[in-house]
Amino acid sequence: MKNWFGLDARPTLSPEQAAAFDRYRNPVRTQVLIANVVIIGLFYMSYAVVDALLLSDVTELSLLLRFGVVLPLALVLLAFLHQDRPIRHKEYAAIGVSIIGNIAWCVILIHSNSEAALHYYYAAVIFQMVVTIGARPPFVTALAASLVTFVVNYSCIWFLHGFYTSFLVFHMTVYVPAMMLTLIACHQLEAERLIAFVQMHENEMLKRELKRRNGELEQLSVTDPLTGLPNRRGTSVSIASMRAGAEADDLDRCALLLIDIDHFKSYNDGYGHAAGDDCLVRVAETMRAELDGHLHLGRHGGEEFLAILPAIEPGHARYIAERLRAAVFNLAIPHDHIRDGRGRVTVSIGIACGSATDDKALGELVEAADRALYSVKAGGRNGTWMAEPMAKGVTAAA
Ligand code: GH3
Ligand code: MG
Ligand code: MG
Repeated sequence: MKNWFGLDARPTLSPEQAAAFDRYRNPVRTQVLIANVVIIGLFYMSYAVVDALLLSDVTELSLLLRFGVVLPLALVLLAFLHQDRPIRHKEYAAIGVSIIGNIAWCVILIHSNSEAALHYYYAAVIFQMVVTIGARPPFVTALAASLVTFVVNYSCIWFLHGFYTSFLVFHMTVYVPAMMLTLIACHQLEAERLIAFVQMHENEMLKRELKRRNGELEQLSVTDPLTGLPNRRGTSVSIASMRAGAEADDLDRCALLLIDIDHFKSYNDGYGHAAGDDCLVRVAETMRAELDGHLHLGRHGGEEFLAILPAIEPGHARYIAERLRAAVFNLAIPHDHIRDGRGRVTVSIGIACGSATDDKALGELVEAADRALYSVKAGGRNGTWMAEPMAKGVTAAA
């Protein structure tokens, strides 16, 4: 982004960005302003010595204005800069005190009858530098402050002792280029600050977007797109987080349910794959609604689901399995392509109780639940069956 003979252009910020930029730069700029007020203030006060040497006829006036007017104002300014104020207000205040200091200096010089006043007046350019480079405000503020400083200095110049018209031209040959150069420097400093801020802002937005998308991807990778339930990977992640969290002990005496839709192949063959998908979604939603929200229910694959019930007695696990079976039965999704006399979609559920605290134990639990599921299928389906006990202290029920 270049213009003006290769110089950086100032990027245009939205009102929100501009407000964010002002908030962002406030702490550092406040520190810089405080340091500059102290340094420039000391410089300004020490010039009382120059006044005394060059303009000895107005020494009293110089001391009065420098120490009686400008110094108290500078101290008030310092106190103001330490307050929690918008940075622009602090910059306006600093520039205001600088302009008052400039006026005071002009008054001192105007009142002197010294021959040195004209030469000394070249120092007016310092005030120009203070409002641009010293205060380093936004460019528009610096431009307005420069114009005020210009008007102050060139209004007073006429009243200097020994003033002649050519002096105005001599003075301007120093002052005007200094004004232009410091304004350009101010413009460039602001452009660089804004460009850095915009880039930082864009990087932050990109980082946030990346984080959001990573979160979405992470979620997608553990979710079954059809039913919205956790997929196999989601089940592994849930178990891993249970093992890592407060529920770790609860997995030592948990129940695992394997839930399989009965005669689903013939359902698909009879009603079509799309209807099969709808059926899967409805069965999943019904079971999800039936289980407590915190209990894990995942799609184990195909028309099979897996539920984990931590810290549960076998009897209670069987009660929950029975509730799931009944909920699907009561959905009454028609299934007329089997001759089992029920005419609706049903599920068979294998239950295994034991430990899932590590992968080996979990694998054994799944195998046991699978065997129990096979027993239900063999026994006519639409039922629940509990496997032989898997771990210490767990009693089987059939
Ligand atoms: P069983 O009662 O013994 O479990 O018999 P089944 O027909 O349900 O079991 P089988 O394993 O023979 O068939 C499972 C069917 O599930 C076959 C497959 O087309 C269907 N299936 C698996 N995943 C999906 C899916 O995402 N959508 C649909 N529509 N069908 C699926
Ligand atoms: Mg199956
Ligand atoms: Mg099946």
